[in-house]
Amino acid sequence: MIVTRFAPSPNGPLHLGHAYAAIAAHDRARAGARTGDDSGRFLVRIEDIDGARSRGEFADAALEDLRWLGLDWDEEAIRQSSRIAGHAAALDRLKRDGLVYPCRCTRAEIAAAATATGPDGPIYPGTCRGRHAAGDGPVAWRLDMAEATRRTGPLAWQDEIAGTVRATPEIFGDVILGRKDAPGSYHLAVTLDDAADGITVVTRGMDLFASTHVHRLLQALLGLPVPVWHHHALLLDADGQKLAKRRGSPSLAQRRLAGEDGRALADRLRAGVLPGELTLGTS
Ligand code: GLU
Repeated sequence: MIVTRFAPSPNGPLHLGHAYAAIAAHDRARAGARTGDDSGRFLVRIEDIDGARSRGEFADAALEDLRWLGLDWDEEAIRQSSRIAGHAAALDRLKRDGLVYPCRCTRAEIAAAATATGPDGPIYPGTCRGRHAAGDGPVAWRLDMAEATRRTGPLAWQDEIAGTVRATPEIFGDVILGRKDAPGSYHLAVTLDDAADGITVVTRGMDLFASTHVHRLLQALLGLPVPVWHHHALLLDADGQKLAKRRGSPSLAQRRLAGEDGRALADRLRAGVLPGELTLGTS
C-alpha cells in the first residue's frame, strides 16, 4: 500500500507552494483508489520541533487550510514533538557507534573558517572532529561524514521522477544531527519519522532533493526501511524564486478568509492553471 505524507513546519502561514505540495502527496496516495487497486494512505505530520519558531496557531491554521483545499487525511495529524524520545534514542545509538561528535562552534565561527558551501550553507570545516569539545552549555552533534560513508559503502535511491540517484551525502560535510536545543535536527527527525509512519513514497518539493542524500545515508546507518521519493517541481514567482512568506506570497489563510473556493483552487493547481505570474520549475 502507498503511504504518503505532507509535513509542514508550523513557523509561518502556508502559501500556494505548500498547497501544491500537499495536493501532490494527497493525490499520489489516492491515485490507486480511482482504479480500485489501492486506496493508499495520506498522513499529515506537523514538524514542530523548532521550539523557537513553531507556533500552535500556525499548525491549527495549516490543518484548516488543508481542509479548505478539500484534502482529507487518514489519522489525526501527527505532532513531531511527540517523537522526541525516539530522536534522542537514535542519536544515542549513533554516539555509541562513534558516528557523531559534539561541536560547540558558533555560526559565525563556522562562516569564518569554512572554505566551501554545501546545500545547507557553509560546509563545516571539521574544527571539533576528533576532539572532545570541552566546556559548558549545550552542544550540537555532527555526523562524521567520512566515517559514515566508509561504513555504508556506496548507496543509491529511487526517485519517481529523477530515476536512480547515486547518494552523495558528502556534499553536506559533517551535518548536524542533534541540535543544541533538540535531540533531532531536520535530517534526523524527518528520516526517523518517515520510517515510524510507514511512509512508502516521500513526496516533497525539489528544494529538498539534495537532503535525500543524507536521509538515505541515515537509513543505512540506522537500519531503517528505504522508501521511494517523489520530488516535484516548485511554484516559482515572477523572478523565478520559490514562494516564501518573506517574499510576500499571499498565504492560504488570507485566501480562505477572503471567501475564495479552496476546492476550485486545488483543482486549478492540479490542472497546472497557476494564479498570477507563477510558473512551475526547479528554481
Ligand atoms: N518540514 C519540512 C518543511 O516544511 C518538510 C519536510 C519534508 O517534506 O521532508 O520544509
